[in-house]
Amino acid sequence: MPNAFSSVAVFCGSRFGSRPAYLDAATAIGRGLAEAGIRLIYGGGNVGLMGAVADAALAAGGTVSGVIPHFLQSREVMHDGVQELTVTDSMHSRKQLMFAEAEAFLVLPGGLGTFDETFEIVTWRQLRLHDKPILIVDIEGWAATLIATIDRAIADGFADPSARALFEHVADVPAALARLEILGASPRPTRQGDPARL
Ligand code: AMP
Repeated sequence: MPNAFSSVAVFCGSRFGSRPAYLDAATAIGRGLAEAGIRLIYGGGNVGLMGAVADAALAAGGTVSGVIPHFLQSREVMHDGVQELTVTDSMHSRKQLMFAEAEAFLVLPGGLGTFDETFEIVTWRQLRLHDKPILIVDIEGWAATLIATIDRAIADGFADPSARALFEHVADVPAALARLEILGASPRPTRQGDPARL
């Protein structure tokens, strides 16, 4: 059955990481999104997990939109096999466009860039700039310390306990896809975000 979401952004590493489970998860997410009829919005590169998600979505007949800043075109080896590729003038406009195009966000294992993208999208939700679902896919516990950082901020009085509800985390790809289907079938939040306010 097609998912009610038409476009979902995936944030993940521009490297493969050291555990085979990370590549397996990236491949399964790409395939799962394609099979659910969901367009993949991602960082436009052909490297690491991000390239793997895009390749898997394309191999399963999915639609892929990449968004890459011009200065990363060569470093992240721009993917020339995707249906739509937008080259932006900066990192900020890349993230803004990915945000505007996506109805929900999936976070897979990654490094500093992935952390940045995750915290930014969570922060924007905290600021009520949007109300789009954010799902962290906690493959082999890679996100435990990231979530612990948020818990510590709450415990130390730097964040409201409600910050924990700004995102969800699931243990694996099947759980992520199942949750996405439920969220897609739920009534759309009214606040889908206005990129002009970011
Ligand atoms: P990484 O998780 O560090 O491999 O990066 C994953 C993605 O995030 C890549 O597409 C990077 O281009 C992107 N990225 C890296 N650094 C930043 C940053 N400071 N702000 C936003 N995105 C970033």
